[in-house]
Amino acid sequence: MPQIDEEKCDGCGLCISVCLNHGLTIVNEVVARVEGVDCDWCAQCEIVCATGAICCPFEIVIER
Ligand code: SF4
Ligand code: SF4
Repeated sequence: MPQIDEEKCDGCGLCISVCLNHGLTIVNEVVARVEGVDCDWCAQCEIVCATGAICCPFEIVIER
């Protein structure tokens, strides 16, 4: 699931509306992950977030 910075989240709900897996919700006025939901790492939540509160970091591994 994406990483969330609660300090940056203003609870606008945009990321929730674009998550086709219904993996995000609002708890105490900030976004939270829904336990047990499979995230497909589409990164739509990160793209729509204007405050940079949610991100989908990934690691690039180069094999020789
Ligand atoms: S789009 Fe960003 S600011 Fe809005 S609820 Fe989601 S994480 Fe929070
Ligand atoms: S990366 Fe995609 S599937 Fe995962 S929480 Fe964000 S919008 Fe939902």
